[in-house]
Amino acid sequence: MKAEKFIGYQKLLSSITVECQKIDDIGNVASYIPELHHIDPNKLGVHLTTIDNQNFSFGDSTEKFSIQSISKVLALALAIELEGDNLWNRVGVEPSGTAFNSLVQLEYENGIPRNPLINAGALVICDILISHLKKPKYDFLEFTRNISENPNLNYNSKIAESEKLAGFRNASLINLMRSYGNINNDINIVLDFYFNLCSIEMSCQELAHEFLFLASDGINPVTNQRIVSSRRSKRINAIMLMCGFYDEAGEFSFKVGLPGKSGVGGGIIAIYPGNYSIAVWSPKLNKKGNSYKGMKVLESFTTKTRSSIF
Ligand code: GLN
Repeated sequence: MKAEKFIGYQKLLSSITVECQKIDDIGNVASYIPELHHIDPNKLGVHLTTIDNQNFSFGDSTEKFSIQSISKVLALALAIELEGDNLWNRVGVEPSGTAFNSLVQLEYENGIPRNPLINAGALVICDILISHLKKPKYDFLEFTRNISENPNLNYNSKIAESEKLAGFRNASLINLMRSYGNINNDINIVLDFYFNLCSIEMSCQELAHEFLFLASDGINPVTNQRIVSSRRSKRINAIMLMCGFYDEAGEFSFKVGLPGKSGVGGGIIAIYPGNYSIAVWSPKLNKKGNSYKGMKVLESFTTKTRSSIF
């Protein structure tokens, strides 16, 4: 990788972020998880890491936030390693075209979620992980920490607890899937595991480092450690591109043009395979539950640097 390729990235990232700070934010902080509602809506941070470990950041890039649905990608990465291709008998790989917590397709499709990045799919993935792991919460956290050799990653139990008290949708999804025989473990244990996964906290800097393996064919290029096979890295990126933004996945591809994943904590991770990973955080969400300004920053950045996959 030629270092010159990334010349000017710092200046550009800073000017784009400042520009986006000024625009009116039409979004709202997620309020259905009460604990998320306390977050300062004006936070804005961004961090980009290249596969040769150059780092560029701006704004609130070292402040931690709960990554929420972004953790679904990490859960998928571990589940594929443990379950292999059998996993695809229980969850599909097609875009849902519906909201992340929608129930409608599930009944039509006999309790098989469209993909692993909507809530229903992630609940099935959690069920699979629980079947394989001796100490699911501990083991998953270890997996997450090992990926980027970062011992400072952790669950936020306050956020997990807050979501549990308000998690009626997720309870409906998992009960429906249980009725079709697509959940094998105790429902409350699976839900508890899922809420904890969503509560994991990272800063933009940590998030970009954590996901760098997907920009580098499944290997963390900083530690040289293989996280997933090259074939699985390709597949995970493909699923992120098609499904990472729910019923806004088309819009994200159209405007940003990278595989990515959002979370209702306001974070977005995007991957430019062979080049870099970039994380953005801005807590106000658009109507589809994706960070409003986060998408703007990424659209502007990939357009100006011509670094989309298309
Ligand atoms: N924990 C959230 C939920 O289950 C995750 C959703 C998201 O980030 N899109 O509703």
